Amino acid sequence: MKLDAKAIRYLTSEDFRVEAGSRNHEVVPTPLISQLSGLRGGSGVHRSISNLAKTNLIAKVKNAKYDGYRLTYGGLDYLALNAHQKQKVVYSVGNQIGVGKESDIIVVAHSSGEQRILKIHRLGRISFRTVKTNRDYLRHRSTGSWMYMSRLAAQKEFAFMKVLRENGFAVPEPISQNRHTIVMSLVDAFPLRQISKVPRPEALYSELMDIILELARFGLIHGDFNEFNILIKEEVDDPDGKGKAPVNLDDVPDEMIKLVPIIIDFPQMVSIDHVNAEMYFDRDVNCIKRYFQRKFHFVSDVPGPTFAEARKKFMKNPGKRLDVEVEASGFSRKMARELENYMKEVGVDGDAGSRDDEGEESDEEEEESEEEEEQEEQEEQEEQGEQEEPQNKSSRGDDVDGNT
Ligand code: ADP
Ligand code: MG
Repeated sequence: MKLDAKAIRYLTSEDFRVEAGSRNHEVVPTPLISQLSGLRGGSGVHRSISNLAKTNLIAKVKNAKYDGYRLTYGGLDYLALNAHQKQKVVYSVGNQIGVGKESDIIVVAHSSGEQRILKIHRLGRISFRTVKTNRDYLRHRSTGSWMYMSRLAAQKEFAFMKVLRENGFAVPEPISQNRHTIVMSLVDAFPLRQISKVPRPEALYSELMDIILELARFGLIHGDFNEFNILIKEEVDDPDGKGKAPVNLDDVPDEMIKLVPIIIDFPQMVSIDHVNAEMYFDRDVNCIKRYFQRKFHFVSDVPGPTFAEARKKFMKNPGKRLDVEVEASGFSRKMARELENYMKEVGVDGDAGSRDDEGEESDEEEEESEEEEEQEEQEEQEEQGEQEEPQNKSSRGDDVDGNT
């Protein structure tokens, strides 16, 4: 699914009201659209609907019970973009710089010309890892769940970015969140993945381990700490503070270049009290270990850090409990659980999940309850009959198509 900003210009404020019904219905019955949109007279509504359908912002769905329309990802994008524009957070839309499995990353600009990043969450867009998880998804799917879950992911990421930033962690500045999108500051740096030469790998390595431990001291585990989610800024290491004038980094000797990591991508963050905290912690640590070994042939002679060490530091000298602060800010434990369950169901495993050397844990998990689930599924199919089939096909279908 690509963000296509062109057609937004031709939409009227009335067109945007068609969303109203999709709060409670994935497929909104046509008469309800008229009613909720508050547009008087049938022809106005029908004009809006046909406008929106032409640009693929909504899609017609016929099923056994009634005809209606459902919002597409494209439609939801427009609603979010419209809100960001109204709030003067985004003035113009530029290039897409990243296509993750679960998000699109787009450079946008403020009216001042300042560049920013728009991250559009697209949970459940692709990567139903196995046929079985796919079936699970269908079975547990609640109305419009991909929209709701993508919004939860955006809310979660925004909430964590905010508390991290406020507590001195090097993360982008969170600017605004709307529906399934967030706007943040653009970090002028490349992911570690793209850095071919690191002059002093031991320094960067220990700095990254320190960040993992520092996060834990504040009650948090990143959960997807890897070379894609660590942006590396090159700065001149200048302890005396003399060389303040702008310099061309190519002219600076390697020993004087300091690599400053900035951490991004927080939808998978967990509390240090999470039941699987240790597994997430170890996975984060091992991701970095493995990457440094493979890419820079660097193996630290200091073992660990272990989760036990991290907990000890956390008990002895705790920072502010940011996990608790996020909860207090409105991203509740219940929301966290809902999102986590959904991510598990659709096989979201962060950037790490796409790599060959990952993914064993989830396979095991999947096998555990297979029999039981098969039974449930059968029962449910009998209950539901076939009426929901078409809307599901189309909702997955256009997401996948749009992704090419
Ligand atoms: P995903 O959840 O799809 O992995 P990320 O938040 O990790 O999304 O972003 C994907 C990529 O987009 C990153 O690896 C990075 O290259 C780029 N990116 C994301 N946020 C920013 C930002 N604030 N500044 C600069 N680049 C960014
Ligand atoms: Mg990422």
